[in-house]
Amino acid sequence: MQYISTRGAAPALTFEEAMLTGLARDGGLYVPAEVPVMATADIAALAGLSYEDVAYRVMRPFMGDSFSDAEITDCIARAYAGFGHAARAPLVQMQPNHFLLELFHGPTLAFKDFAMQLIGQLFQTALSRRGERVTIVGATSGDTGSAAMEAFRGLDAVEVFILYPHGRVSDVQRRQMTTVAEANVHALALAGDFDDCQARLKDMFNDFDFRDGVKLAGVNSINWARVLAQVVYYFTAAVSLGAPHRKVSFTVPTGNFGDIFAGHIARRMGLPIEKLVVATNQNDILHRALSSGDYVTQGVTPSISPSMDIQVSSNFERALFDAYDRDGNAVAQLMDELKSGGGFHISQGALGRLRDLFTSGRVSEEETSAMIAQAKRDMGELLCPHSAVGVKVAQHHLGTTPMITLATAHPAKFPDAVEAASGIRPPLPARMADLFERPERMTRVENDLADLQALIRGEVMA
Ligand SMILES: *Cc1c(COP(=O)(O)O)cnc(C)c1O
Repeated sequence: MQYISTRGAAPALTFEEAMLTGLARDGGLYVPAEVPVMATADIAALAGLSYEDVAYRVMRPFMGDSFSDAEITDCIARAYAGFGHAARAPLVQMQPNHFLLELFHGPTLAFKDFAMQLIGQLFQTALSRRGERVTIVGATSGDTGSAAMEAFRGLDAVEVFILYPHGRVSDVQRRQMTTVAEANVHALALAGDFDDCQARLKDMFNDFDFRDGVKLAGVNSINWARVLAQVVYYFTAAVSLGAPHRKVSFTVPTGNFGDIFAGHIARRMGLPIEKLVVATNQNDILHRALSSGDYVTQGVTPSISPSMDIQVSSNFERALFDAYDRDGNAVAQLMDELKSGGGFHISQGALGRLRDLFTSGRVSEEETSAMIAQAKRDMGELLCPHSAVGVKVAQHHLGTTPMITLATAHPAKFPDAVEAASGIRPPLPARMADLFERPERMTRVENDLADLQALIRGEVMA
């Protein structure tokens, strides 16, 4: 199995190389050269299996010779053992023919745990076999950083540094990063905002001396292995509602387009998905692009669903690559226009293909709050604001095909917004009820590249 870049000018890599590299050298994103198709009988045979067994059968063909069967089985087992629900991704009914896929039972209460926990195990396995150590540096506005720290804590092949904007993440989000005890993970509270964190991260990757010196690696949402891990729950959910003998649809609260792109891969593997619905908050660049064909950045307006507050949706490049018949030059040109002019126009043909694949909807802040209140009242579900955006959009697409909305975070992760909307302050699950008593550990850092590099070098060389 080979992986190729969406911009057509980087070498093809194996699964392991694509995972350890993250971003391609031509600036593109890695995608499988060919998507393996699962026979209808093989999809039917997933019925009744555990999440771990489905994960193995869905992901195995994508990994080629990079890992042995036993290594994959072990990594999957370790990745999901710490989840707080035996089903890992349970499905609950909300309305007639409308279901909620709960993806928030992992250690940091958001769906990012599904991918991050697995990638932690795969990194450790690959690096210890190679006798290498890497330094993972990430920037976070909340959910990704804690998911990465939970996934990599205590693994001896990696040192992890997470930059977050000091004073600008929620208390729960901060404590999920600062209360991790293992010495190989470091929470860095930067004097600046999230854009500053991202800019310093980019600076570090562009400084090749530094990058090679500390063996920098990235695990942000463009990493192919993260997308792959998310394909699995589309299968478990669809099969439990009767696939492959019955079609299903999905609505996905979307930001960087990683989660919904995993649904697109599931469909290309042969899972009968009728609609894939992109749900956005007021930062609606994807909804505007699919409606008008113009992908134009407008700046971010902070919302109560902050994990979807994006200006540019990085994984959308993978969908464009397919919509442009895998023409890397065409994609590279669009990305140049985006960089120089803040936007691009999608050709008529490509837009038609995107609309065949994806439907979209946008939800305002008022509608999101009202949806949280209504779901509590009429469906007995306390939704996080991101999931509420999904449920609201899904309601425009209910019909004879079962609709599955992805619940991307636990309501307790966003207690203020949920309480304001519903009057109920959601408690943390029992297994992390002591989060506010655990000791915190973090390093305050200036918004200064040289200072940051000195700090990271010092820890890595120590
Ligand atoms: C990251 C995140 C999203 C957006 O997912 P993408 O894969 O970036 O589209 C939605 N909801 C929550 C809670 C998240 O953490």
